[in-house]
Formats: sequence, C-alpha cells, structure tokens
Amino acid sequence: MLEKFIPDKYQKSVFTIDYKKLKLCGIKCIIFDVDNTLAPISAAKPSRKVKDLVERLKDMGFRVLIVSNASKKRLTPFKELLEVDCAASSKKPFGFKFRKVLNDYKYKVNEVAIVGDQIMTDILGGNRVGITTILVNPISTKDQIFTYILRFFENIVIKKAMKKELFTKGQYYE
Ligand SMILES: [Mg+2]
Repeated sequence: MLEKFIPDKYQKSVFTIDYKKLKLCGIKCIIFDVDNTLAPISAAKPSRKVKDLVERLKDMGFRVLIVSNASKKRLTPFKELLEVDCAASSKKPFGFKFRKVLNDYKYKVNEVAIVGDQIMTDILGGNRVGITTILVNPISTKDQIFTYILRFFENIVIKKAMKKELFTKGQYYE
C-alpha cells in the first residue's frame, strides 16, 4: 500500500533531474505539474529559466506536456509561452488524464514520466497508472488552499515511509 506513494525518483527541482538518463531509460514524454513544480502559485506565467528548460527538453526529443489540477484559465499562459499541450482540471490522483496521454499519443507506460511536487496527487496518480514518477520539492511553501489538506496527509505518508526506510525528505535519488 505504502509503495503507491513512493516516487521512482526524487530530486530537488525540475532543474536537477538527469534528463539524459531518462532518455536512455526509454522515456519519450515528460508530463509536468504546474503549481509549485514549474512555478509558484503566485506566478501567472513560467519563468525564462523554465521556458529554456522546456525548450532544451524538446530539443532532446521529448514530448513535453502539462497535466494539472488547476483551471484552464490558470494554465493558458503556460500553454502559450511553453508551447505545450495542457490538460486542466485533471483530478489527480485519478489517472484519467495520464491514461488519456497514453491513449492519445500511443505511448507505453514505460515511455512516460510525471514530474510533480505532491505525493498525494502527482506521485500517487502516476504510480496507479504505472508511469515513471519523479517527485521534486515544492518551489514555495505557499499552496492552494485545498493543497494544505493534501500536505497534511502527505506528511503522514512521509512519516510512515521514513519509518520503513522507503523515503526520506531531502535524500535525493535517481
Ligand atoms: Mg503541484
């Protein structure tokens, strides 16, 4: 049960992930969460640094997508500035939108990775579907109101996982 909450990889931020390694492992599509993964919730649009990263990933041959629980309105500047397809209001941890990506773009589960800052949505959702899950630290401690509730449960899961030595905050792994 606890395994469903444990990410396959854990990194400090989207900028410290070894994307070359992902490529070598056969990943073709990288799905990003937005809030506190690509941008703080207070930012209406992606930073130059994020734009450069997405460009680099596209150059490496990855398909980059956004799957977020945020509204379409929130995602529009990200979709336009990063020039990526977006799924809004995706209701993670339910796997519909992840499965839709697999179906629409004809990827196998081992060809897709999700990068996100929340265990209860991004990681649980991704693990349920079977894609590669990569946890990053939230950019800011400021969350959407509902996320504060999810963080409460996330902390319980992390405590349990620490006891079983499955996961420790701040101990990054690839
Ligand atoms: Mg998030």
